[in-house]
Amino acid sequence: MAAKIYINGKMYDKADAKISVYDHGLLYGDGVFEGLRIYGGKVFKLKEHVRRLYSSARAIKLEIPMSQGQVAEAVEMTVKANEKRDGYIRLIVTRGAGYLGLDPRKSTNPQVIIIVDDITLYPPELYENGIEIVTVSTIRNHPAALSPRIKSLNYLNNILAQMEAVQSGCFEALMLNHKGEVSEGTADNFFLVKDGVVRTPPIDAGILEGITRDTVIELAKSAKIEVQEIALTRFDVFAADECFLTGTAAEVVPVVKCDGRVIGTGKPGPITKQLREQFYSLARS
Ligand code: PMP
Repeated sequence: MAAKIYINGKMYDKADAKISVYDHGLLYGDGVFEGLRIYGGKVFKLKEHVRRLYSSARAIKLEIPMSQGQVAEAVEMTVKANEKRDGYIRLIVTRGAGYLGLDPRKSTNPQVIIIVDDITLYPPELYENGIEIVTVSTIRNHPAALSPRIKSLNYLNNILAQMEAVQSGCFEALMLNHKGEVSEGTADNFFLVKDGVVRTPPIDAGILEGITRDTVIELAKSAKIEVQEIALTRFDVFAADECFLTGTAAEVVPVVKCDGRVIGTGKPGPITKQLREQFYSLARS
């Protein structure tokens, strides 16, 4: 079946799903987005994603011409139209078509776009064996320049970091912030485990407040595992017993090497495995 793509209330075949080349989403990366997952026909954490989309939009003064409930309904409708039981959703709101200048007041027609597709981020064996990551020289956006809490259409910061990771033969980069502390991956949040305690950088380390991150924190707490949102350095990473990344696309991925240092035993650790299993059973429940 050909993919059906939602644009502003209408469904289009993939080949006909088009927006203006004057759209400021294209010209300036002026817009916001979300990535969501469908597990067993159900959209995982739909409300949370829609809420974050609206917070991002608010932060860039972009008015979405629909209510949160209507956006959620549109997502469900597009999933149904594509008859997907497992897959990935990209929900996008652009500033709309304007003129060739930055002023967002000239763009009055935001485009709400929903794409439903498949995604495989890493080969399945990496979930069993873990991945190697590398800290990169491209730091995460300074929060005073562009808050990493805004999930904007401009991902160049992360793309440049991702290119460095690929250059080093790694699947993912570990980005530091302007203070040299650990922030996050290019599309996922970072966690480590030390002496049975789960640690992850706080929001003010300059990170996206990941929905998978929040879910994993809740799962750990409900399993009586202590969780600390605390500033971390490369030292903490190298000395950790376990590391893992979380994200909608990545889910929960064990990290077994960073900057050439073996993490813990070099194999996915027990707490990582436990949280990964708990995450899958929640997502598929
Ligand atoms: N950080 C960044 C920079 C991301 O792009 C993502 C993916 N949206 C995440 C973290 C993970 O967030 P979530 O768990 O909500 O997908």
